[in-house]
Amino acid sequence: MARVCLCLTGKTLSRNLAAIEKYRRCIDVAELRVDCLDPDERFLIRDFPGQAGLPVILTIRRRIDGGYFDSGEGFRISLFSRGLAFAEVDRRRNFAYVDLEEDIDVPSLEEAARTFGTRIIRSCHNQNGIYDNMAEKIRGLARTGDEIAKLAVMPRDLGDVIKVYRAAKETSGMEKIILCMGDFGTNTRILAAHAGSFLSYTSDPELLPAAPGQIDPETLVKHYRFRDITARTTIYGVVGFPLKTTFSPRIFNTVFGHEKIDAVYVPFPAQNLNDFLHLAAELRVAGAAVTIPYKEEIIPRLRNVSDTVRKMGACNTIKTDKTDHSPDWDGINTDALGFSESLLRFTGKKNLRGMKITVVGAGGAARAAVSEIHRLGGRGLILNRNSVRARELALEYRYKWGGLDSQALDTMERYSDIIIQTTPVGTYPNIDDDPFELYHFKGHETVMDLIYNPEETAFLRRAKAAGCRILNGLEMLIRQAKYQYQYFFERDFPDQLIPRLEEIIRRKA
Ligand code: NAP
Repeated sequence: MARVCLCLTGKTLSRNLAAIEKYRRCIDVAELRVDCLDPDERFLIRDFPGQAGLPVILTIRRRIDGGYFDSGEGFRISLFSRGLAFAEVDRRRNFAYVDLEEDIDVPSLEEAARTFGTRIIRSCHNQNGIYDNMAEKIRGLARTGDEIAKLAVMPRDLGDVIKVYRAAKETSGMEKIILCMGDFGTNTRILAAHAGSFLSYTSDPELLPAAPGQIDPETLVKHYRFRDITARTTIYGVVGFPLKTTFSPRIFNTVFGHEKIDAVYVPFPAQNLNDFLHLAAELRVAGAAVTIPYKEEIIPRLRNVSDTVRKMGACNTIKTDKTDHSPDWDGINTDALGFSESLLRFTGKKNLRGMKITVVGAGGAARAAVSEIHRLGGRGLILNRNSVRARELALEYRYKWGGLDSQALDTMERYSDIIIQTTPVGTYPNIDDDPFELYHFKGHETVMDLIYNPEETAFLRRAKAAGCRILNGLEMLIRQAKYQYQYFFERDFPDQLIPRLEEIIRRKA
């Protein structure tokens, strides 16, 4: 099982000990980043392992390697020596590991470490990209059989990440630490077991950033259930870009834990869909949610699609054949039912017959909403920033259309029994943005915004102030996830979990 390592980037040793206490139940190893300590504290590191009460890595990271140390190499070597000096017979009071970069060549340091059982991590950090032949790079790092090779690289996209997993596979017999930094690399930190990595680094968000893309130990262990993940754990995920706010991992990992399913749900921000599909094949990803901007682009890549996807032209859920995880994907759309069930429950109606409804936006989510409004007998007006797109969608259903401009206001007043806001405008962190400030709510409208983070968008706040009944996208999110779960696993969703899931998302939003 891969270990969880907490990077200690506090300015004082006592601050670092407090961080260990905060996360003790979630971590196996700590890395003392001496480069982050105040100058006076650097002379006191020798006693730290005895105080920490868990194995500690001694690291003094230079700026060129992504650290904070810039006081010269001679001083750095003397600090390493200080950390390794006066070794005790009780090894728990010595540093368990020392991180020496690949270009360090100080035999006396290595000798001191080996004599007293401190294992050497031989590291290489590339802040600017990856290497051509990473398997060879990893093999070349460890100088002796007892050293642990560490390779940390900065992928430019998921295409680079695939190469890292392949290199990990090619060096599968080796004890190593392998990871990708940055947002594209977060999956390698969660899936350390799949990469065969000895440990995964985490950090305390209240301390100095240790490396880009790290998550905190509690999120890794409790939310992603890191300690239950093995190389055989089935991977699910969500693909989109930039994918800054997604609650799907929260929902699914909670359900997997509750249902004791050996699976993990990982966010895959992807700059292009091809990269994700290749990575998914490499990792044998079994199923995924598809979100902005790929709900339409994914369709030509699918082997089979449901009638709803064909009709709506938007797909938000894909899965591979459950028996062989083949790279052929099938797709459905669960936004549609999630949307209509949530809206009907809120309005207390069985259908939308006789209702005149404005949909703001004409993207993937709007397509799901409009197809359901049509199925349920509602009459629609579609308004979009790009009015050509509004027209295209409207013509499919013989609905009215327009741009988000003053010309649309008269028609909108006539289509205002229900107003559905489907653009991402107003999503955290841009919580004061409003997609259609020109429209003044009268108070009789029922207003739904598909956004769930924040709970009340600027659009909903205005509607509420005018006296409208308002609904956000939280219930829709959970209902569509429920249908995704049923599609992935062909069994019922544990409905009793819904209040807990709503609470988790509310706390995080
Ligand atoms: P999408 O396919 O990328 O469509 C985005 C839509 O928003 C387009 O109509 C676009 O107009 C419009 N838009 C984007 N930026 C705009 C701006 N600055 N001003 C005015 N209009 C703008 O995205 P999507 O998949 O439909 O998702 C849209 C939103 O729905 C997201 O916030 C997503 O989180 C939410 N959603 C929620 C749920 C849920 O379960 N609650 C489910 C699905 C989606 P143009 O055509 O002019 O670019």
